[in-house]
Amino acid sequence: DACMKRIEKTKPLNMFITISEKLAKEQSEKSSIRYKTQKPKSVMDGIPIAIKDNFCTKDVRTSCGSMMLQNFIPPYNATVCQKLIDAGAVLIGKTNLDEFAMGSGTVDSIFGATKNIWGYKDDLDDFHIPGGSSGGSAVAVATGSCFGAFGSDTGGSTRNPASYCGLVGLKPTYGLISRLGLIPLVNSMDVPGILTRTVDDCVYMLNATAGPDPKDSTCVSMPYSPIRIPPAANLSIKNVKIGIPKEYASEYLEDEVLETWNEVAALLENAGAIIKQVSMPHTELSIVCYSILNQCEVASNMARYDGVQYGFRATENSSTEQMYAKTRSLGFNSVVKHRILTGNYFLLNRNYEKYFEKALKVRRLISNDFDNVFEEVQILLTPTTLTTAPLFSDYIKKSNSEQCSQQDFCTQPANMAGIPALSIPIKLSRNGLPLSLQLMSKNFSEATLLAFGKFLE
Ligand code: GLN
Repeated sequence: DACMKRIEKTKPLNMFITISEKLAKEQSEKSSIRYKTQKPKSVMDGIPIAIKDNFCTKDVRTSCGSMMLQNFIPPYNATVCQKLIDAGAVLIGKTNLDEFAMGSGTVDSIFGATKNIWGYKDDLDDFHIPGGSSGGSAVAVATGSCFGAFGSDTGGSTRNPASYCGLVGLKPTYGLISRLGLIPLVNSMDVPGILTRTVDDCVYMLNATAGPDPKDSTCVSMPYSPIRIPPAANLSIKNVKIGIPKEYASEYLEDEVLETWNEVAALLENAGAIIKQVSMPHTELSIVCYSILNQCEVASNMARYDGVQYGFRATENSSTEQMYAKTRSLGFNSVVKHRILTGNYFLLNRNYEKYFEKALKVRRLISNDFDNVFEEVQILLTPTTLTTAPLFSDYIKKSNSEQCSQQDFCTQPANMAGIPALSIPIKLSRNGLPLSLQLMSKNFSEATLLAFGKFLE
């Protein structure tokens, strides 16, 4: 009830697309009966959780922030949602996102932009963006409308809003959490991402959802061993090697972010860690390589929206082809259409080798950079975002693709390599906005990563 009241009170921030009131009520009633008469199902029993609107929820609209799926009601739950329900969690609502998770600001949704709670004033026209594309999930957690939320992370969409909203944001290792029912953006990089206020809460969410799923062939087959809480109980920082990759010092890095990065490195050094400057020479190729792979996979993924199988269908009956064309031209925003067109261009027979295959090779080099560096150090410390949350009016001056290449600079390489990455809020900037840093480590080393996160918390 308290969460529902918060949702009502913070409505102008526009973080929810659908409130699943009926479902939430049923679940919370069942949970309170369990608390009174038997043991709770798990630590998640009765806990209100929000879900980004690109995860399928049975009988609850799943729109992807797009006209194409505006009235789409899935017949099944994404594995993440089903696991949360089985653990007793209360799925309180579906959160706003950039259309089909293509963006870094939560400004490109047919339901309008989401506003960041930080720096928000009722009487101002402008506001700070929450980051994206999981901005609705982030603001839902930051406002206390729920205790944790799922976002998705293909190039940074969980960590970027975590950074701008002062939250813990985890991109787990690719394949650790099932993608079944997460509407695909880039299948080879998508992961469900976790947004919480504390590291411990993040561990609870991870423990409830990670592990094999026979219905997702890209999901790990080895059983998941839950991480103990608190995760840092026996962490010794002494002599741990922490890498500072010099290529992450982008020319667009704001002074205060750079200062924070240096301060935290010094703090870890004082605690006994060995700070090493390392080099990851292919970092600067990551963004261009990502955008090619992204657009190619988007071109193929979006082919399913033809007006026949799902959601929206245009009233055009001169021919089947015309109906497809009209449906797709009306149903998608310009960002989605742009990516479909460029993706198909890169996939043309004559271009395939030049762009798509080349990008795959560069992806391998970027991934090798991580393998090499993890021979030398255990953890990498970088900024999550180059700045604090921009103002909406400034943000929209640049195109979606210009924004993504700047916004995702530090987050996106981890998706290329599949490794886990964690955004941790560090402090407030001089103008009162959250400043965050990112930690990265080897595949499946979430326990270590979260232990370091806990140390910095
Ligand atoms: N900004 C990136 C994009 O638009 C990443 C999005 C994401 O992680 N979902 O593709």
